[in-house]
Amino acid sequence: MTADSVRTLKLSRAEEQRLYDAWKEFEAKAPAYARFQLRPENCVITCYESGKTVFQGKDAAVYAAPFEDVPSVSLSSSPFAQTNDILPQAGSDEVGTGDYFGPVCVCAAIVTEADMALIRDLGVRDSKKLTDKEIREIAPKLMKQLKYSLLIVDNPTYNRVHQNNNLNAIKAKLHNQAYVNLAKKAQLPSFIIIDQFAPAPVYYSYLKKEQSVIRGIHFETKAEDHYPAVGAASLIARYGFLVTMDKMEETWGMAFQKGAGSAVDECGAEFVRKHGEENLGRVAKLHFKNTDKIKAAV
Ligand code: MG
Repeated sequence: MTADSVRTLKLSRAEEQRLYDAWKEFEAKAPAYARFQLRPENCVITCYESGKTVFQGKDAAVYAAPFEDVPSVSLSSSPFAQTNDILPQAGSDEVGTGDYFGPVCVCAAIVTEADMALIRDLGVRDSKKLTDKEIREIAPKLMKQLKYSLLIVDNPTYNRVHQNNNLNAIKAKLHNQAYVNLAKKAQLPSFIIIDQFAPAPVYYSYLKKEQSVIRGIHFETKAEDHYPAVGAASLIARYGFLVTMDKMEETWGMAFQKGAGSAVDECGAEFVRKHGEENLGRVAKLHFKNTDKIKAAV
């Protein structure tokens, strides 16, 4: 355990508000001469009337980090420009959680001002709005240029982890791990966005036992439409899913359906007839209702 540390910053009123909004559920009684005090895990944050904000505690540096660099604002005319053009930015997204067959993939990626020309050229947007063919073309080009971290959780691992974790807990741990890995490759920008699947306090509650937790994250639904880093991460994650499915099809000598509908049940029955029920957990997420339907059909 590292010793307590202290960071003292002078924040603008807007930054103070952003800080307050991020941790307001941890508000404590403000001491004298303070506007507010917040006590999230491993840190005491005190915003003084003098204009100074003091971060104190084991994770002081972690909580202060998003406010220590002033992000440069891009003036580019990207499809994302009107909404959220703070660059550099890091974003993450996951795919495969709604697919019975195949892995869960989470990617975190950094997009800088210098990457925006490529982002525009490739027409990066939500992977759900692109065909698989387009993703196979675009993603490798992004992977060549961007700093990213891609986690692919295969089915045996997923089924084992799911015994003790619900899906949102798994997602939270994977997003956090993707950022921890990414931070080893490049400096994480102060602006980090997750395509929201749970409110921030819930997200962090799943990470209580993790060794390192990346904080100061902005959560937003449909973020892949608004933030180029989330759009890029979504695309790379989808590519990871497709490539893993290719390998599975080669290994098992059959095509796997995507999604979780009736075509998937038929496909699952075919798999069980060919390879046996005992191998289903090597290609599928067993907790889906499809499993019972497949077993009943064979
Ligand atoms: Mg998403």
